Amino acid sequence: MGFFTKGITLPQKRTQLSLELIDTPLPKKVILPVQQYLGEPATPTVAVGDTVKVGEIIATGEGAHILPLHATISGTVRAIGEQLTFRGTLVPAITIDGDGKDTWTKLPKPNPDTSALKPSEILKRIHQAGLITRGPAPVPLRSDLVPVDQPKTHLSVDGRRVVQRIDTLMITALDTEPLLEVNRFQARGDHHELPTALSVLKTLTGATHTIFVVDKHRGPFPQLMSLVAGDEEEMTTITAINGTSYPISLPALLIKAVLGREVPLPYGHPRDVGVTLCDLDTAISLGASVVSNRPPVEMLITVGGTALNQGGIVRVRIGTALSDIIEAVGGFREPAAKIITGGPLMGMAQYDLTIPLTKEVSGLFALSSDEIALTTGYRECINCGRCVMVCPVNLVPGMLSLYCAKDQFERAEGEDLFTCIECGCCDYVCPSRRPLVHLFRHAKHQLMEARQ
Ligand code: SF4
Ligand code: SF4
Repeated sequence: MGFFTKGITLPQKRTQLSLELIDTPLPKKVILPVQQYLGEPATPTVAVGDTVKVGEIIATGEGAHILPLHATISGTVRAIGEQLTFRGTLVPAITIDGDGKDTWTKLPKPNPDTSALKPSEILKRIHQAGLITRGPAPVPLRSDLVPVDQPKTHLSVDGRRVVQRIDTLMITALDTEPLLEVNRFQARGDHHELPTALSVLKTLTGATHTIFVVDKHRGPFPQLMSLVAGDEEEMTTITAINGTSYPISLPALLIKAVLGREVPLPYGHPRDVGVTLCDLDTAISLGASVVSNRPPVEMLITVGGTALNQGGIVRVRIGTALSDIIEAVGGFREPAAKIITGGPLMGMAQYDLTIPLTKEVSGLFALSSDEIALTTGYRECINCGRCVMVCPVNLVPGMLSLYCAKDQFERAEGEDLFTCIECGCCDYVCPSRRPLVHLFRHAKHQLMEARQ
């Protein structure tokens, strides 16, 4: 076990949400942006007035960085136009008015025996299902996985590329933040798709060792334990870590904590240290899609916050408006002071509840005024050093924030601004309530805009 000494530890009682599964009704309308990942947008293949069925491709494109988009309800295409997304950007989107019938399109036959599938066929199915990686920078899952015959790496020594083969498949049952619960919820269940997912991922990557990473405060994990016990070659193990420790679940930090291997930041990837990392919920979706040839049209998200009547693990169709999700869990108990998509530490504040749920969103929180710290009228940095003590990637956030606040973006970049993983630990401990992550995001955005 490696070391994880920085970051913050949240009180366990604050991280214990209800793990009740709440099914939401079929929405009357969905809005589906043609880009729900970092990459290139797909091009609509339907027109206004067309009728569509569930699972039908309604937008697509050429190349690994463009994912096909599927209808998530059956009905009629009502509009194709720009839509505000949770990132605050305008993206072309397809609006479908539902017919209430939930009729699926005709799909290729399921193929339960995946043992004969070649890596290229597996990758094709993953791509066709429109799967993405979860986390702060979601990309098409296909481009994140490394076929065994095409190892790649960001590293080079003396100008020569280092080719690092994958030896470890790490399936994490931790979510990106302690308050997000979907993977922890899935870890307690029994999923017939999981053994297929493991076998497919090992075929694809060449990994020989599988590690399940679980939260030691949750459990039991009957299926994961039986997969470990059932591996006669003893190449499957389970590691329990403190899930209230944050941001231990972010890829580079998790790999350091579990394997002691250091992913080079800011541009490194788990593959650089021989690891394929996949969260449990994504692995289950992958297993299901490869076997059934069905794209996922619904997803699990964590819904919480004391401004809501009810929270839990919510199953919802992709494209449902945030307001409809809140209504489905019983609405507001009191006026929300802040609504966040993602988790409270790394998520994004939302001002418009008509925006749709997209694949990148892992949670929806409606926080009451006593759950948030307002940053209006923040004070000057008092050089207390608390942010330095918690920064998991060893930056000096206070100094960086001064450069960013004065628009000295190149200077901030020289101090490794892009190594910041935007975990929010510095914000959390700052006694001056400085909006540090906001300043870092703004500076990164300005630098990237200037280079386009
Ligand atoms: S500077 Fe970035 S990485 Fe460091 S604590 Fe702050 S948000 Fe996290
Ligand atoms: S925690 Fe806040 S006040 Fe303290 S050094 Fe960092 S930015 Fe400055």
